[in-house]
Amino acid sequence: MTRSAAWLCAGVVAIAAAAATAQDSPDVASQVSAARTQAGPEWAKAADFFCATEEQVAAMKILPSATEADVEGQRAEPMQVFDNLYFIGQKAVTTWALTTSQGIVLIDAGYAARFDDTLIAGLVKVGLDPRRIRAAVIAHEHADHYGGARLLQQRFGTQIYMSRAAWDALDVLDPGGGGPGAPPGRANVITDGQPVIFGDTLVVPVAIPGHTPGSMGFMFRVKDAGRTHMAALFGGSILNPQRRLPASVYEEYLASIQHFANATRRQRVDVELLNHPIMDGLFDRLERLKVRKEGEPHPLVVGEDAYQRFLGLMADCIRVQLARRSASV
Ligand SMILES: [Zn+2]
Repeated sequence: MTRSAAWLCAGVVAIAAAAATAQDSPDVASQVSAARTQAGPEWAKAADFFCATEEQVAAMKILPSATEADVEGQRAEPMQVFDNLYFIGQKAVTTWALTTSQGIVLIDAGYAARFDDTLIAGLVKVGLDPRRIRAAVIAHEHADHYGGARLLQQRFGTQIYMSRAAWDALDVLDPGGGGPGAPPGRANVITDGQPVIFGDTLVVPVAIPGHTPGSMGFMFRVKDAGRTHMAALFGGSILNPQRRLPASVYEEYLASIQHFANATRRQRVDVELLNHPIMDGLFDRLERLKVRKEGEPHPLVVGEDAYQRFLGLMADCIRVQLARRSASV
């Protein structure tokens, strides 16, 4: 980069930082900066999203609801990330494929409309046979996560897992069932703290209501060059701090983050995953993974302390959103 380009970039960053706090009271602005400092440099990008105002999030045009039709712009290269975990999806919302001794276990199923060109094509591209899909564990009852599940049932007889609250919500949404993009037929229920066993692999669900009543996070082991790590995926993150949502939603969400922090601390989680990868800086880490040399640390293994700081940032940014509300009434 030339000297003038570097100066230009610095200017743009300064302007962006100013804009981020322009409408905040001094108290809220200092809360935002404390959240960033506490989170540390690994989570600077995550702070940009989680602590952003509703207007800033809308302007970023990164929410799944804003990008659903943007197939080309949302295309993301599928890739193997750990010995037993593959990234298969889009920029704003993704599926993770976990390989087990009983076949492929998908975490989420993506949009129904992206089933063939993204999910199935992605699996084939990384060398996985879709006929080996054994199960799909769905994080919550929104169509960007369960959308492809019905097609999985129909084409591969895939076992679908969701929380009881998520199944109940889908029953209300689609009581007759069966139309295009319809939810899957009611199947397996997952419960907080009760591991689901797929041969040599356990997936531990953790209830995290807030974003939806049926939201679940998951913990499972990933392997990298003979070493095992514990990964956690917080499967129901609030990405858009909408003022129309009652404060009680955020209070429940805060309690869920605390519950998830306790569970992941006990399991010594050191790998952070989301099903909305554009929100946690995943693509920067994937770029580093592509050029990683033998013996270098894995860019997604952030460590136990950094993982807990990530959850702390999510909680701190929700407190920021609540403080913004009370400042505006
Ligand atoms: Zn959702």
